[in-house]
Amino acid sequence: MDHYAVVGNPIAHSKSPWIHAAFARQTGQALVYQTLLAPLDGFEQSVTAFRIGGGRGLNVTVPFKLEAFALANHHTPRAEAAGAVNTLAFGPDGILGDNTDGAGLVRDLSFNLHCPLVGRRILLLGAGGATRGVLLPLLTSLPASLTIANRTASKAIALAERFIPHAGRARVDGCGFEELAGRRFDLVINATAASLADELPPLPPGLYAEGALAYDMMYGRGQTPFLRAALADGAARVADGLGMLVEQAAESFALWRGVRPDSAPVLAELRRLVEAS
Ligand code: NDP
Repeated sequence: MDHYAVVGNPIAHSKSPWIHAAFARQTGQALVYQTLLAPLDGFEQSVTAFRIGGGRGLNVTVPFKLEAFALANHHTPRAEAAGAVNTLAFGPDGILGDNTDGAGLVRDLSFNLHCPLVGRRILLLGAGGATRGVLLPLLTSLPASLTIANRTASKAIALAERFIPHAGRARVDGCGFEELAGRRFDLVINATAASLADELPPLPPGLYAEGALAYDMMYGRGQTPFLRAALADGAARVADGLGMLVEQAAESFALWRGVRPDSAPVLAELRRLVEAS
């Protein structure tokens, strides 16, 4: 049996073992996938012990994505652009670091939610690790514009400047929340940690263009405060980040095992479990 795990702190809440077990059953792959709680000051030691014990790969979650980037010997282009890693693969050449968060988000948006990104005006709220992970895949989807807005505006501006070379013909800018007043977007993605504290980013009203989708990377039972506020402010439809979670897992699974699972039935079953919890 090949061994995999998701490493983080805390980690007990993670749905990744359930998702990867479902993928393994579906594709007939023999593997074990568990959680790995690393001490806050012991990420590298935990990874090394797991690898020496025969582990083949790890998913990496809060707060270790930057340390995982530093630990990897080589990176995929999307991990390089993000400067953060959520997937480690152990092989003869050392440790490969990848970041599948953005590909997971783009697939959830375009495939599961039928929300085309080409030519759209995208607003991304937040300038933390999740935002960094999704910027390159979003820009590769050829939007008309991509605006990053953050509570600490300087972080959004710095991030926008860093990604302008990857922007192609898209207009990329960064700002604080109040500077969004009077602007309209086709897709608004909440990548702030506000929903974790049951809070809302303080957004000006009228952000949603006709037919706009509001997307919260946070997920759980029922709607997040951000999604409720988006509907009240005119968003035509809303979605949470459960699809992104399953799709980024599918992308990691494909990297490790060379076979892409069918994510749709796994997402449908996980949604049922989350709503029943
Ligand atoms: P970080 O800690 O790296 O970044 C947090 C961001 O949220 C910062 O931009 C911070 O602003 C902002 N923020 C925090 N609290 C508030 C608040 N009360 N109001 C407004 N802004 C706030 O977190 P991550 O980027 O790693 O994660 C962000 C979210 O995305 C989390 O909810 C996480 O669960 C989710 N996520 C979901 C995934 C999925 O698969 N569905 C994958 C990855 C992440 P400032 O810079 O001013 O401090």
